[in-house]
Amino acid sequence: CGIVGVTGRTDTVEILVSGLEKLEYRGYDSAGIYVNNSEKQDHLVKTRGKIADLKRKITSQIKGTTGIGHTRWATNGVPSVENAHPQFSTDNRFYLVHNGVIENYEELKAQYLNNVKFVSQTDTEVVVQLVDYFVVHENMNTKQAFKKTLSLLKGSSYAFLLMDRDQPDTLYVAKNKSPLLIGLGKNFNVVCSDALAMLHVTKNFLELHDGEMVVVTPQTVEITDQAGKKVQREAFHVDLDP
Ligand code: GLU
Repeated sequence: CGIVGVTGRTDTVEILVSGLEKLEYRGYDSAGIYVNNSEKQDHLVKTRGKIADLKRKITSQIKGTTGIGHTRWATNGVPSVENAHPQFSTDNRFYLVHNGVIENYEELKAQYLNNVKFVSQTDTEVVVQLVDYFVVHENMNTKQAFKKTLSLLKGSSYAFLLMDRDQPDTLYVAKNKSPLLIGLGKNFNVVCSDALAMLHVTKNFLELHDGEMVVVTPQTVEITDQAGKKVQREAFHVDLDP
């Protein structure tokens, strides 16, 4: 299972797909991507099976400048198109990829989301519906809603990449006990579970610590710790060929 994200590249789809191919060694049963361009035109493509199957579903119309991709190793819900990631909120505003397991998703669903119609059996869908819930019903902005949602995921493991259709150049990132790195570029940035996935676009990476949340745009990477304090971190260089 693995995660990739890109912001600020016209070849976002190609980078996501080649990144997922490089993560194939981690094992998976399904895969998917979500991309958006600055005109808020977006596309979601998901499949059961291999990256080759995903590629067959990606037509030349599927383009974007920011996007997220995922290979899934099912833990909650069978391998299927509905359960493949990105998972999305009912209003089609938020899209989320996740590696890991949300331990208390049933409690959270019962507490906040009784009126929501779910389309998957995944623990992940609860997280993306919760973000939407806090934005719609508690008037939070996306960053506040994501932070609030993270604070509720007791004892869980996750690497998350979240996109908001209304902010088409922003990636919301968080991790706890699952690997995730930010890759730095000139007027673009990427996110990946393993640097191997992105060595063809950058060799400079930032490590993330458990509990941190990151907002990534083509020009900026803003890391905050659990207390909401800004974190400064030096990049490291990976001296390997792709
Ligand atoms: N728990 C999530 C699911 O079953 C994510 C699995 C993964 O890490 O790929 O959909």
